[in-house]
Amino acid sequence: MARATVIGSGPNGLAAGVALGRAGYDVRVLESASTIGGGLRTQELTLPGFRHDVCSAVHPAARSSPIFRAFGLDDRVDWIHPDISYAHPLDGGRAAIAWRDIERTAAGLGVDGDAWLTRLRPLSTHIDGVVDFTGNQLLRVPGDPITAARYAIRMLEQGTPLASSAFLGDAAAALMSGVVAHANAPLPSLAAAAAGLLLAAHGHAGGWAYPRGGAQTIADALVADIEVRGGTVETDVHVTDLDALDWGDPGRGDLLVLNTSPRLALTHSDIPAGYARTLTRYRYGPGVAKVDFALDGPVPWANADVATAPTVHLGGTRAEVWASENAVAAGRVSDRPYVLLVQPSVFDSTRAPAGNAVLWAYIHVPAGSDLDPTERITAQIERFAPGFRDRILAHHAVPASAREAINPAEIGGDISGGLFDIRQALRRPALSPTPWRTPMQGVYLTSGSTPPGPGVHGMAGWHAARTALADAGTPATLADLFG
Ligand SMILES: Cc1cc2nc3c(=O)[nH]c(=O)nc-3n(C[C@H](O)[C@H](O)[C@H](O)COP(=O)(O)OP(=O)(O)OC[C@H]3O[C@@H](n4cnc5c(N)ncnc54)[C@H](O)[C@@H]3O)c2cc1C
Repeated sequence: MARATVIGSGPNGLAAGVALGRAGYDVRVLESASTIGGGLRTQELTLPGFRHDVCSAVHPAARSSPIFRAFGLDDRVDWIHPDISYAHPLDGGRAAIAWRDIERTAAGLGVDGDAWLTRLRPLSTHIDGVVDFTGNQLLRVPGDPITAARYAIRMLEQGTPLASSAFLGDAAAALMSGVVAHANAPLPSLAAAAAGLLLAAHGHAGGWAYPRGGAQTIADALVADIEVRGGTVETDVHVTDLDALDWGDPGRGDLLVLNTSPRLALTHSDIPAGYARTLTRYRYGPGVAKVDFALDGPVPWANADVATAPTVHLGGTRAEVWASENAVAAGRVSDRPYVLLVQPSVFDSTRAPAGNAVLWAYIHVPAGSDLDPTERITAQIERFAPGFRDRILAHHAVPASAREAINPAEIGGDISGGLFDIRQALRRPALSPTPWRTPMQGVYLTSGSTPPGPGVHGMAGWHAARTALADAGTPATLADLFG
């Protein structure tokens, strides 16, 4: 039986492991941390009984992912489907709300209701076409060219100064800016718009679901599938030198899959100079500074709808959100930063003792910043939820400078696997129709540093696995492996 060694147990590494295990490989996953899951970990970071998502929390891309659909993730995880995908509070107790129901969203956006429908309904009603286009490398003919063209046109609008004239009122403008700002890139920019439009389309298609019990439940389901086929997952194994690792013989069909920073490939002594140059020139982006709170009750939001929204974008108007993101690109952090916030306890009572709550929040910061984000995030929440500060029982902060110690793939605290701009959307990390394949025999890349980029979707894992299977002369489809 040929061996497949996967370094890293993130969603892409585990997805690759599941696919290769089902294709008959003897799978061995090596993970540097003491727990499995990479971006899919849930832990008691503050107080006993308070279970926080260490990284990812909300999973629209996982639910629409072709490999996770084929795997039957919906039957293995208890999804919570909130009516609100994301909320964006404004000063004075107002809020813009992205309901899963797009008509209800439009009704709440007043003068901009029709503009919202015009922009997002053609994408949300053809979400499979959007996922097909964005879920692969971009050097190919899209499966649904009309939807891809519509998506590209909206990207050209939201990713350029034209975005300023898309909406008349401040609510829709703020709502769109909050979702586009996920990309951790200057605003407006094409790559940020691409990511934001995908997320916004998901918001009105399947919605922004999250798993009861936390992101860890997704990792556990994937690991169970690897183990049931005889595969293993070993923790506390930090691989720093590929030449020192026994991963078998590529001449006999053994595989090595790197769910790590592509930098690890530089330690392979057979790496051609040109490919080494490509990986060395690959650029990493700004970082993330996160804080998890244990609370003695729900957040006292000034707006009642925000209290029922698991995902909340803080930062006020579009102008403020853009200024915050552009400050990061210029090497600074705004005093009133854009904050991504998730309050899972709104619908998941398993995450904290009765009556209590967990809260997850992060801001974008320059690469390697050692800023403790706690005070800035607390002040932004307090701005839209007076009295929040009094609810805090404990908190756990992780500056960008500490992220690499938690996950060696997060260079300088970059959680996207590399700078997210148009150039690196195409060259991720190399310009190739099969960027998951390296020039070293049997060695493949799978992470946010390969298409389709960051997020919990497992698709980079599937692309690496299907490329390896095709190279081995045993091509397989999802239907072949998952029935
Ligand atoms: C704070 C935060 C919030 C996020 N929120 C969301 C969200 O809500 N929704 C969403 O879809 N995405 C979110 N993301 C992004 C998402 O988590 C990542 O894009 C995704 O996990 C990337 O998956 P991956 O499999 O490529 O790698 P990772 O999940 O990064 O896993 C890589 C694994 O490899 C291990 N590893 C790395 N190098 C080595 C080595 N040399 N030796 C051994 N092991 C190694 C790491 O420890 C890690 O476990 C978030 C990320 C962070 C950090």
